[in-house]
Amino acid sequence: METHKHFIGGRWTGPDKYLPVANPSDGQVMAQIARGTAQDVDAAVAAGQAAMEGDWGRLDAATRGRLLLRLAGLVRRDAEALTRMESEDVGKPLAQAAADVAACARYFEFYGGAADKVHGETIPFQEGYTVLTMWEPHGVTAHIVPWNYPLQITGRSVGAALAMGNAVVLKPAEDTSLTALALARLADEAGFPAGSFNVVTGLGEEVGAALSAHPGISHISFTGSPEVGTLIQAAAARNTIPVTLELGGKSPQIVFADADLAEAAPTVVKAIIQNAGQTCSAGSRVLIEDSIYDSFTADLAARFRELRVGAASQDLDLGPVVNAAQKERIERYLAIAERDGLPILAQGELGPNLPRDGFYVRPVLIGDVPPDHVLAQEEIFGPVLVAIRIRDEADALRVANGTAFGLVSGIWTRDVGRAMRLARRVRTGQVFVNNYGAAGGVELPFGGMKRSGHGREKGFAALHGFATLKTIAIRHGA
Ligand code: NAD
Repeated sequence: METHKHFIGGRWTGPDKYLPVANPSDGQVMAQIARGTAQDVDAAVAAGQAAMEGDWGRLDAATRGRLLLRLAGLVRRDAEALTRMESEDVGKPLAQAAADVAACARYFEFYGGAADKVHGETIPFQEGYTVLTMWEPHGVTAHIVPWNYPLQITGRSVGAALAMGNAVVLKPAEDTSLTALALARLADEAGFPAGSFNVVTGLGEEVGAALSAHPGISHISFTGSPEVGTLIQAAAARNTIPVTLELGGKSPQIVFADADLAEAAPTVVKAIIQNAGQTCSAGSRVLIEDSIYDSFTADLAARFRELRVGAASQDLDLGPVVNAAQKERIERYLAIAERDGLPILAQGELGPNLPRDGFYVRPVLIGDVPPDHVLAQEEIFGPVLVAIRIRDEADALRVANGTAFGLVSGIWTRDVGRAMRLARRVRTGQVFVNNYGAAGGVELPFGGMKRSGHGREKGFAALHGFATLKTIAIRHGA
């Protein structure tokens, strides 16, 4: 069995204790990772600070960009191995893991290319002054990553932070740390100076809590549950540092009768079943105009019945969910649906030759869910799509905005006026018209409103989040 250490200050360092890593497709332990401690976090933060004071801090932006581009090239070189690793570790079908590897490489390319294109301004001021602004790194940044898209989420946040010249301490999720450690190995090979890219693995309440409370950390980027997000923000407040929080959603896909329904239906299904529904931006509510409710749900139901669930290596429509706790969580919501008599319109099937102890859940379409029902309000994080009837545009807006979340929305209509009115009024960080997710959109700023969080990752906008603006006023006389 493979044993993985932390990567701190350019060296692999061993701990006293390890945590088992299970394969979600068969429930078997396949590796072990270091169970980090507060001392490991201290060492990683100190290594980051030393890098900022030393080789890493002295590199110019173009050189940082070249290192990121080299890292992207190494990710592409090792794409096959990384795909297999991510697929086994998270339980993703191979094709979905391959897309994640490609997206991770794209983040490093995008931010590598952007590193030397972030510049300040000169500001007209009083006679006898020249005033300029410049973007500087925060210092050592913490990156606490969940288990659903390890490579993608690491790529987007670590890529932007390194581009701006921060030193990073990455804490991957305890269930899915393997590709973060592989990235550390590749960053080392690419030539990132010691201490610029550190990885400490372990439990959230141990390593994650120590990292988010550490006085040497200058910024925290967190993606995960709203509960932990609140703890992170409180910890950051005690050190008066900024945070970027991405806390999931209950994203609506609104389908009007005048939409291209043949286009909409497969996209609506894909938006919930991708990664077995364990996606913060999953389109987990479909809001359907009354006049087409029956025909459109019939179309969706037919598609759900065709879906097949299998081991990650079988590369079917869905893999297992990540662990037993996640499976139980989804089953709890399904039990509530049954208790409340919500109609199950269709379910996908488990495929052949499933390993016995994997964490498999059949995708399910549930009809006529009242907008205020718990299944229409809470993030289930599984392949469960709830269908809600809407009367008209005003009703659609009320229901779309009627949850605590505000991450993403989809609007399907041929009426440009309606699309734009809704796009302007819906309270989500991203809005997709006649598409959903825009194929990942590395270039597109992403983040939440309301309880979905704040701050933006992805796109150029994220670079300013990973930097702080300095103003220099020079009085030289008229
Ligand atoms: P989580 O929020 O507990 O874990 C996310 C990351 O935070 C992990 O790296 C974890 O180790 C770390 N963490 C946990 N406790 C911490 C603490 N006290 N201090 C600092 N870091 C800590 O999420 P989870 O347990 O993996 O999943 C629970 C639920 O969260 C899911 O069912 C889902 O609804 C939601 N979730 C959302 C996203 C998203 O992308 N928004 C991702 C994963 C999970």
